[in-house]
Amino acid sequence: MEGCKNFLFKDLFSPVQYLKSVGPNRARLLKRLGISTIFDLLTYYPFRYEDRSHLYLIAQIKNGDEKTIQAVVSRQIIVMTRRGPLLKVVMTDGTGEVIVTCFNQFYLKDVFTIGKAFIINGKFNRKFSASGRSGKAEISNFTYEMLTKDEDDLIHTNRIVPIYNITKNLNMRFLRTLVKRTLDEYLPALSEILPINIRKNHNLCEEGFAIKNIHFPENFQTAEESKRRLVFDDFFVLQTVLALNRSRVKESPGITYEVSNQFVDEFESLLPFTLTNAQRRVINEILKDMAIPRPMNRLLQGDVGSGKTIVAAASAYAAIKNGYQAAFMAPTEILAEQHFINLHNFLATLGMKSALLISGTAKKERKKILQNLSSGAINLLIGTHALIEEDVSFNRLGFIIIDEQHKFGVMQRASLRSKGLNPDVLVMTATPIPRTLALTVYGDLDISVIDELPPGRKRIETTLYTERKRNEAQELIRNELRQGRQVYVVYPLIEESEKVDLKSATEEFNRLNKVYPEFNIGLLHGRLPSKEKESIMQEFKNKKIDMLVSTTVIEVGIDIPNASIMLIEHPERFGLAQLHQLRGRIGRGEYESLCILLAGLRLSAEARQRIKAFVQTNDGFEIAEVDLRLRGPGEFIGTRQHGMPDLKIADILKDVKILEIARQEAFNLVNMDPHLLRDEHRQLKEMIKFFYRGRESLIKVG
Ligand code: ADP
Ligand code: MG
Repeated sequence: MEGCKNFLFKDLFSPVQYLKSVGPNRARLLKRLGISTIFDLLTYYPFRYEDRSHLYLIAQIKNGDEKTIQAVVSRQIIVMTRRGPLLKVVMTDGTGEVIVTCFNQFYLKDVFTIGKAFIINGKFNRKFSASGRSGKAEISNFTYEMLTKDEDDLIHTNRIVPIYNITKNLNMRFLRTLVKRTLDEYLPALSEILPINIRKNHNLCEEGFAIKNIHFPENFQTAEESKRRLVFDDFFVLQTVLALNRSRVKESPGITYEVSNQFVDEFESLLPFTLTNAQRRVINEILKDMAIPRPMNRLLQGDVGSGKTIVAAASAYAAIKNGYQAAFMAPTEILAEQHFINLHNFLATLGMKSALLISGTAKKERKKILQNLSSGAINLLIGTHALIEEDVSFNRLGFIIIDEQHKFGVMQRASLRSKGLNPDVLVMTATPIPRTLALTVYGDLDISVIDELPPGRKRIETTLYTERKRNEAQELIRNELRQGRQVYVVYPLIEESEKVDLKSATEEFNRLNKVYPEFNIGLLHGRLPSKEKESIMQEFKNKKIDMLVSTTVIEVGIDIPNASIMLIEHPERFGLAQLHQLRGRIGRGEYESLCILLAGLRLSAEARQRIKAFVQTNDGFEIAEVDLRLRGPGEFIGTRQHGMPDLKIADILKDVKILEIARQEAFNLVNMDPHLLRDEHRQLKEMIKFFYRGRESLIKVG
């Protein structure tokens, strides 16, 4: 190695562009793969390997073998077909010949030139001729790499080689060479982040060894060992960050609320119903948190309709009684309005003042609200993202509720929090989070679960219809309308074009008006002005509208107990969680409810599976598990949005066991050394610092 510089740990985080052979162009291509720094490159792991340590000989190839061979081009044959010229290349390795057929890749003519050597991988055919003699080996679905006959070839042959995801104009050979060279030069700069006892206890190999061997393993067992270590690292770093966050919050002084023992009973006496056991339990968990002098950071999970709002109201009420202000943020205007309608009068009878702030709030009114907010005259402010605008300032914000929190990003939550005095925070979600995900994405929160629905709820029947049965569905609906029930009809949001979307809902609205001339039909979509949305919802609530045709703006939170049918058009275009949320709009009252899915005729296998699972169960947790399995964790919850680093190699589903160990070790470690001051934790601390550069506001270390 020329020069043999000694790189430092921090050099690992300099841009790949400074590497030899990487200019601005290739840097851009690497960026597409998510590789910006040298560290990114070293941790860009292969998704599989090819065993080129034992190259297969052409003479050995049997029909159906999936193998790797190394051979030299001896001839090109061009066959004229009706669809144009087809290239066939004959290659040999001295033991026999193989015919490589290049369907739709005529350009390979200039790649597979005579005399050049290649590595070919794929599934080979070798048919027997009529006489029973074995025919020529052939392959048409293959990957290839050119050999150059220089020393570089040693990186690509005679060993187990890594196969990476690549991108257009960036070939495997280049990337592999780059990784190899960079490993040789920079790996010494990486020091072990795990304290020795953790490594010993769980039989984990050293980090440097693991990174080297995940790329260029001596054998498959080392690859496996390395993988296990790196999976552990993925989880361990993440869990350490969560543990640090949590201990930071717990260390900072918070508000100590005084709550009387009779509080829950008193509160319940103000309600038209009795609380479920689960609601009582959860309210008590929250009150207990509020009573200690540390900021609360709690996630409330409960299936749709489980009654989370009243739990939020109870805790806000407790905060307000202590002389603090509370803020309640919801993801949509409709939902914010609904919360406002429900809570405003309730609080008014208790002598408390609430206000609604949304982007549609008139200027004059907004000004008045902001004044009353900073003077402290408003006790509870309900609203949307409008709450986090800069000029919104509270007098004594002590309690924050965030409804359907998965709809908000970390930054939004953080900025509402920053308006308060180390406030207690309650985030709520009806998207049940499978345990494994809860441990990763929300690992720094305390969790409360409402696992019981209010009594008297009727089961929601769900059926799948296709277009052919549309009339049948329409009559079913008519029948229900005649009995005084109300109906939702929902259209999917087509992301490419909100206009098309609107049009289909509007057209359908017109059509349905003809189908049901005897009933009142309303149309609701995201583009309507706030006031209009509000009045349509109000009319639906007051039964002036019988049928509400809508886009997904009604997805979350809407609560109209008299609505008993939900018709979902093109359910295949919705995610499972979304379908579940939509279905949660019905079955809220005393009536048997029906969810009708009107699916398109051609469904993908995945959509079919999704819909089948949805029809079979009403249990949000079960649905979440299926969703996680079908879509994977990244899609499921958008970990990025939550400010978490991507897991590079760990799989939340497959590696649960390692996740649990890593979590336990990380929390123990932070418990012993909350600021990572000990010498043996210095490297871990450094790593986390570099990992989170630019996102320090989310993760404060030391
Ligand atoms: P979600 O958990 O989906 O936000 P909501 O808070 O909107 O559910 O509650 C759904 C409906 O159930 C509301 O109409 C609410 O008034 C009602 N509700 C909540 N708790 C109870 C209870 N203990 N008994 C009867 N009805 C309840
Ligand atoms: Mg709700």
